[in-house]
Parts: sequence; C-alpha cells; structure tokens
Amino acid sequence: MTARYENLIDGHDCPPAQGAYLDSENPWTTQVWAQIPRSTPEDIDRAVAAASAAFRNAAWAGISATKRAALMRRLGDLVEANAKELALAEVRDNGKTYTEMLRQMLNTAEWYRYYGGLCDKIEGRVIPVEAPGHFNYTLREPLGVIAMIIPWNSPVRLLAWKLAPALAAGNTCVIKPSEHASTSTLTFARLVREAGFPDGVVNVVCGLGAEIGPALTDHPDIAKVAFTGGVGSGTAVYVAAAKRMRPATLELGGKSPNIVFADADLDAAVQGVAGGIFASGGQSCVAGSRLLVADAIHDAFVARLADVARRIRMGDPMDAATHVGPVANRPQFEHIMKMISMARDEGATIACGGESVTGAQGGLFVQPTICTGVTADMRIAQEEVFGPVLSVLRFSTEEEAVALANSTRFGLGAGIWTTDVGRAHRMAARVRSGSVWVNTYRMTSQTSPFGGFDLSGVGREGGQAMIDAYLQTKSVWVNTTGVMAPAFPSL
Ligand code: NDP
Repeated sequence: MTARYENLIDGHDCPPAQGAYLDSENPWTTQVWAQIPRSTPEDIDRAVAAASAAFRNAAWAGISATKRAALMRRLGDLVEANAKELALAEVRDNGKTYTEMLRQMLNTAEWYRYYGGLCDKIEGRVIPVEAPGHFNYTLREPLGVIAMIIPWNSPVRLLAWKLAPALAAGNTCVIKPSEHASTSTLTFARLVREAGFPDGVVNVVCGLGAEIGPALTDHPDIAKVAFTGGVGSGTAVYVAAAKRMRPATLELGGKSPNIVFADADLDAAVQGVAGGIFASGGQSCVAGSRLLVADAIHDAFVARLADVARRIRMGDPMDAATHVGPVANRPQFEHIMKMISMARDEGATIACGGESVTGAQGGLFVQPTICTGVTADMRIAQEEVFGPVLSVLRFSTEEEAVALANSTRFGLGAGIWTTDVGRAHRMAARVRSGSVWVNTYRMTSQTSPFGGFDLSGVGREGGQAMIDAYLQTKSVWVNTTGVMAPAFPSL
C-alpha cells in the first residue's frame, strides 16, 4: 500500500498546485512505498506567503520568550516520544540502519530543548557612547522567513541544526527536503503542529531541487537561506542569496582525513578509522574518506582495517544485526561505483571491496572499499565519494602529514590518532578543518559548533553563539536631553 503525503502549508496538508506526485522508493526493497508532492513555484509562493504572514502575526511575533521556550521543549519531548516513527520513516527513505536512525532521533530531541533554553537569553546591550545626552542600546530581532534546504542522508537531524536556532530566535520558515527523502520531514512537521506552534511558522514544500529550489532561494520575501548539501547546489543557492543580498549558511561536503601516527593506540585507531568511513555506508558529510598513515605502520594498519571492512555485515536496515544498509538511491550508487572505477584507472590498488552487491530484496550495496597507493593529486584523493570508499595515503613526517591533510579544497573534519599530547595540539592547530577530533571521530553535539572551512561551507551550526545566525542587531539612539542642537548653528 503506497502512502500519499502532502505539503504542509499554513498548518494544513496541501496537495501540490499542479496535482503531480513523485514516487519514493525504499532502497532496501526497491519498492515504491510512498508518494510525495512534485510541487511547483506556485506552491513555494503559497508557503512563503504563509510564513511571512505568520512572522508578522501576534500569535507568533507577540508571544513571550518564555512561551516560545516552552513550545520548543514540548517539540523536543514530542520528537523523543515519536522517535521510533521518525526513525522508521528515515530508514524507508534513505536505507540507513534503524539502530542508527533511532539514536539520531533521540539526539535530535535535544537540539530543540537546548535552543529552547536560549529563547529567553537573547539580550541586547546598553552601549557606552561618546555622545553626551544620548542613550544607545541594541535590540536583537529575528530575520524573517528562513528558507531551509536539506539533503537526503539525515534529513530530520540536519533540519534540527537549522530549525531549532531559527525558531528559538523567533523566525518562521519554508523547508525543502530532498526529493529522495521527504517523508521523515513531513512526519516531523506534524509534531510541530502538535506542539502548539502557530500555523504558518513551519511550512514544508516537497519536490525536485531543480524545479522549486530556485523559486525558493530567489524569492523576494526570504530573509536567509540555510542549506546542507553538495558543493554544486550549494554554490547555486549562495549565488541566489547574494543576488538578493541575503545571508546564507552552507554546510557542504568534505574529504576528511584520519591521520594515524606510528605512536597511536592502533586498536582505537582501527575502530575510529573504520567507523569514520564505513558507518552509514560512508553517506555522511564527515566521512573520514582519506586515511593518512605513517609509513612505519602502513602495511600492518591497512591489513587490520581490511579485516574489519570484510566483516561488516550489509543487509536489512531494520535488522539489529546489520551494520550497514543499502545505498540510499540509485544515482548515488552509480556515483560511488564510478568513483571506484576512476580510482582503478588512476592507478590506485583496491586492497579490499570494490564491488557492488545486490541485497536479498533487490537493494543496492557497495562493499566497504579500501584504495591504497593513492597520491594527493588523484581525483579519488580530492573529490567527495559519499560512499564506503577509503583512500589511503602515506606520510613519514609530521610536516608531511599536515601538508597532506590540507591538500584538498575541503575542510570539514579531521581525526588525529597519537599518544603524543604535544603533537595532538600542534596538529589540531595546523589542520584546516571545522572540527578536529583527537583519538576519536565523528563527535558532534548541539552544544558545540560544527561547520566547514573552504569548500566545506560557510558559517557554523550548533552551540550558543549560533543563535546569532538567525538574529539581526538594531542599534537604537535616544536623545535624553529633550533638546535638539541646531543642524546649522549660524542659520
Ligand atoms: P544536493 O546538493 O544534491 O541536494 C541538497 C538539497 O538541495 C536537496 O534538497 C536538493 O533537492 C536541493 N537542491 C538541488 N538543487 C538546488 C537548487 N538549484 N536550488 C535549491 N536547492 C537545490 O546534496 P545531496 O542531497 O546529494 O546530499 C549530499 C551532500 O550533502 C554531500 O555533498 C554531503 O557532504 C552534504 N552534506 C553536508 C553536511 C554538512 O553538515 N556539512 C551534512 C550532510 C550532508 P533535490 O534532492 O530534490 O534535488
């Protein structure tokens, strides 16, 4: 039975203006399990109008920060209470394991609670000014309607990174999920209504990025764009925002290094490197897709890693014994296989994996793959695969490790594996990357900023300061003397 989903506009389930729908395929069964709206710019216009009206409406604009905080906490509680349903929707859409998605949903609840706690701590300042008889202070105000564009790999979680601070600051929004994974966002949006947020504060419009993305990012009533996705569409979104002189936050891709020194705890490093690239089938922005390993331990370390890679269980994402589910969609599967073939052509050795596998119900898998003999100039060392493909590069000195780590145009995450505390801090300072993990990998938290250098993005998400990305500052000057000095004294 195919479920049909509708857009959420102004608190109502809204069929798309043109009446067209897209099939949503379950990547494990390869069966169509749902239909989502194939919206058009008309639907975007309706959603932006609803969000603009809600932004001005006293039901949202007029409520106290304390009340807003209560709504946020209630939303967090509802996400937690409905974590299983949300996780199931994610699994059906993107094929990641239920175990991982459930953990993600429970953490997502914390984002709404954390930013809920900041609602009533948004404060202006009284500024000492060199202007006798004048009083100056700042007001912190929400921006308006935020366009939120999210990818397919972890939609509900990545939405929370934007939506929680945006709502805490008092904004409204129009969300465009990926055509490949929209149902979890629609399921989540129902909880926003249930929590008691006024109609129109959160709107969701589904469809193809190419058909409705530009209508959203070019819309004159959008105050900011918050985007997570690839560099190509991120660039288009950034240009559109710039043309309207609007701010944009961009969380993009990566080619993150895991750097293993000879003095590392190798048991821990093997786990960290394997989890860093093979968990979620590598479909993670912070996938540690480059292993930089010291010459002295190269062969032994790669052998241990290959042993773990070969034992990873691929299968039904709902089965608790499965480590990795199918690739999320066919275009992504084809991209991964093309990248593996390109690595071979460039002269890399496939030390393990490298082949595709068809699951029991037709889903497409790629074996955990390790490419050795990779050099920094190869495309497999430079371009994001977004799949379970690890490129191994070797170094002999710390200096070389730094140079290799910084040899791509990305800068999202980096793992450093060493027992030398001084080296850990030296490396953390010299690696160009938004997050650095020492003897651990892939750690994130709502309380800590996350984002990228260079092609990995613009701006940060998470942490207290990030609420500022959804606020603007107004400077208010008050003449306290009651007297206005003549503009032109001699007149
Ligand atoms: P895409 O860039 O293809 O798509 C991201 C979103 O943008 C989708 O909703 C897409 O819609 C939409 N979109 C596409 N074209 C446009 C356009 N012209 N204007 C507006 N919106 C548009 O990325 P993927 O969905 O393939 O996600 C994978 C990428 O996301 C990887 O590069 C990954 O590294 C990155 N990512 C980054 C993270 C971070 O925090 N730094 C976290 C997770 C992923 P549609 O799908 O319908 O085409």
